Amino acid sequence: MSKPLRVLSGMRPTGRLHLGHVVGALNNWVKLQNEYECFHFIADWHALTSDFGDTSKIRANRIEMMVDWLAAGLDPNKSVMFIQSAVPAHAELNLLLAMITPLSWLERVPTYKEQRENVVDKDLGNYGFLGYPVLQAADILMYKGNFVPVGEDQVPHVELTREICRRFNSLYGEVFPEPDALLTPVPRLPGLDGRKMSKSYGNDISLSDTPEEIAKKVKMMITDPARKRRQDPGNPDICPVFSYHKIFSPAETIATVSRECRTAGIGCIDCKKWMSDHLIHQINPLLQRRKEFERRKDEIGDIIKHGNQKANAIAGDTMEQVRDAVKLS
Ligand code: SF4
Repeated sequence: MSKPLRVLSGMRPTGRLHLGHVVGALNNWVKLQNEYECFHFIADWHALTSDFGDTSKIRANRIEMMVDWLAAGLDPNKSVMFIQSAVPAHAELNLLLAMITPLSWLERVPTYKEQRENVVDKDLGNYGFLGYPVLQAADILMYKGNFVPVGEDQVPHVELTREICRRFNSLYGEVFPEPDALLTPVPRLPGLDGRKMSKSYGNDISLSDTPEEIAKKVKMMITDPARKRRQDPGNPDICPVFSYHKIFSPAETIATVSRECRTAGIGCIDCKKWMSDHLIHQINPLLQRRKEFERRKDEIGDIIKHGNQKANAIAGDTMEQVRDAVKLS
């Protein structure tokens, strides 16, 4: 029987997860765990590349992230869920891969250039931030991952992992399979103000919000800015509320909103109410599961411990092969 294909992905524990993470990543991960052997890690070392100045929340954020993952439907019996820093072999492989990675490969990564130019509230002038994609390569190659589920903007990172992988294999012998980006179309959920959803913009719907808080936030959402009065026709294609309808509402409601908004047949207050009802109906099971897991924090510790053990066992095997290949054993 052929070995199941492996999927690798991680998330940085930089704060509470929001609905954008569920729609844009977690729902996909939950599906993937039924088709592949999945490894999901909480990338706490990656969080340090930009948040090294204040590490006080990382430990608590890791637990909250695991609670969110479980509530979203990740199953520890199907997916290996672990904490990156609990598998020190990632650091060793990162070091070995750093030796063979030309600096120019890192400097040309588009997200590196873009973030150095645009992020002003964090010091990104450190060596760790430049080397972020090498650590990512180590995270993926450690488990001989076949696929990495990513959005378009992350494809260059996977491409860099493939280049590092080829370079390692050509220098030291075939140890790692070349991973591929798994481009699954996932809907993008804008923030309440139409920008990218982010806790730091204050435009998110958090997984710890109650249904009442969600309904209140939806009431404040921006709509088509040209629709100033009830009798003005609107354009749902540029309205964030309609983007939510397309994800959470049934086809009939989507068709009604699309038609009636354009003719001023419905007002924004009603439209938002319909949307928040559907959204809450869909998200409520997750919110309830989240509350339940919060009550079972001891179990969370066991799940993490178990995931760390599994990850360490595989990482140990890989590093033996790596040290042999590099002639360091
Ligand atoms: S009716 Fe709905 S889709 Fe149209 S502008 Fe108002 S909130 Fe947006």
